Amino acid sequence: MKRVAILGSTGSVGCQTLDVVRSFPEHLSVFGLAGWSNSDLLALQIAEFSPSVTWSRNLSEEDLGVSDGLTEMATHPDVDVVVVATIGFSSLPPTLAALRAGKTVALASKEAVVMAGSIMQREMQSGGKLFPVDSEPSAIWQCLQGENSEVSRLTLTASGGAFRGRSLDQLIDVTPEEALAHPTWQMGSKITIDSATLMNKAFEIIEASWLFNVDWNKIQAVIHPQSIVHSFVEFHDGSVKAQLAFPDMRLPIQYALMYPERISGGFSEGMEIGELGSLEFYPLDDSKYPCYIEGLRAGKLGGTYPAALCGADDAAVELFLDRKISFLTISELVKRVLDEHKSGDESSLEDIVSAGNWAKTRAYELAGL
Ligand code: MG
Repeated sequence: MKRVAILGSTGSVGCQTLDVVRSFPEHLSVFGLAGWSNSDLLALQIAEFSPSVTWSRNLSEEDLGVSDGLTEMATHPDVDVVVVATIGFSSLPPTLAALRAGKTVALASKEAVVMAGSIMQREMQSGGKLFPVDSEPSAIWQCLQGENSEVSRLTLTASGGAFRGRSLDQLIDVTPEEALAHPTWQMGSKITIDSATLMNKAFEIIEASWLFNVDWNKIQAVIHPQSIVHSFVEFHDGSVKAQLAFPDMRLPIQYALMYPERISGGFSEGMEIGELGSLEFYPLDDSKYPCYIEGLRAGKLGGTYPAALCGADDAAVELFLDRKISFLTISELVKRVLDEHKSGDESSLEDIVSAGNWAKTRAYELAGL
């Protein structure tokens, strides 16, 4: 029996994690639940799962920076796996503390590793493990099982989001509702917008480079509209492995929670390969995705640029969802903030959090708000 703490239990990944727990009551139990703005749902979850520890804070309250309560939950001796599925910077201190305490962290909040990858690697030296809860890095992780050979290339797939096939000038007037209509995945609104801009894919490339210690020039993304193949790993003998599954976030969640076991039952009814039809793959034309270009630029610059990227993107997506800026302004705002950023030290949590906060505030200022 593994005891699970979930930071961000009322969000999309948090709820799907509880679905997995519900399906495997003989393997998983809930030790702790932490939620932010949706206190009604959190109350229902607490009533159903009777966790030993809970934490909640309304988003309208100030100070999302550090919470001792979250860190206490994430490092508690009775916790086996900490699922981190929050948005914003509040997940960073408890995630780092959990790794330092030697816990297994199942991380859905990829911004945390984008911002603080080097600190996470340092904290893991005390025995903590970081498992991805996201279909593409999970696919790479699964393909690497049993392999000791050098990887020659990682290829992440991207559905292309809601606006695949459209040119930039066809995106001038698109609404939040159109951008939120993802063709293959059911996800929270921030990540769905990041999928439409492909910022999400830039985040995943940065994340993969930290998680699997693979050089930038060996990681690429391709468009795959069906979202069936989640990533490819190419080895130096020319062999390529891929992982396939229907697009259901509960599968990578289940894999991370159950690792190293594979448990039958749950959500998949099996895949009839003969009925899949065609699976298509195209090169990614980055001239259509300015956010993707900015994301990779920040990742390659390193320092606190990735933290500034996350802060600026957070603000820009909020502004778009609030109808304060257009879809195409998201990338313009991110670019302007990155152009102004002066990098701090990537090994300092204080510098990372302050770069993220600065970028978020600066993006609002540049938008005139
Ligand atoms: Mg993904």
